[in-house]
Amino acid sequence: MKKVNEMERFFPRVGYGYDVHRLVEGRDLWLGGIKIDHEMGLLGHSDADVLIHAICDALLGAANMRDIGYHFPDTAASTLDIDSKILLRKTIELIASKGYVLGNIDATIVAERPKINPHIPAMKQCLAEVMDCDEDQISIKATTSEKMGFAGREEGMAAYAVCMIVKS
Ligand code: MG
Repeated sequence: MKKVNEMERFFPRVGYGYDVHRLVEGRDLWLGGIKIDHEMGLLGHSDADVLIHAICDALLGAANMRDIGYHFPDTAASTLDIDSKILLRKTIELIASKGYVLGNIDATIVAERPKINPHIPAMKQCLAEVMDCDEDQISIKATTSEKMGFAGREEGMAAYAVCMIVKS
């Protein structure tokens, strides 16, 4: 057991997260912590920020601390319409309770419309502030689904994230 603990100090841990939310009319579109002008928004118990949710799951997975639904149930009144930036901040505090800090994140948003690329600098700036890290630690990419599948038909959006965490 001692050997594993010693190794933990020198070896970073990797985590992976995936999330999907339906796109509907009458909802604001929140992505990467910012509000984007669009005729539809993501549906969910919280603000349904699919990118932040994927990042939270990656961070929790890296720390072996279950997932976002375990810590912030989508049945709880406390998380109804909650700003996902609050969940991300709490997730950073959760992994810090096990002695971890963020190394880096690499994430991809899958959305047919609107164009995500122009919003990426603002997302990075916002998330760096929430996680109290450098923008260079956060990579956000975007792709369409070439009109195929649920994202391609604009029925929803998906996000994937991997992260690395290190012992502080
Ligand atoms: Mg979600």
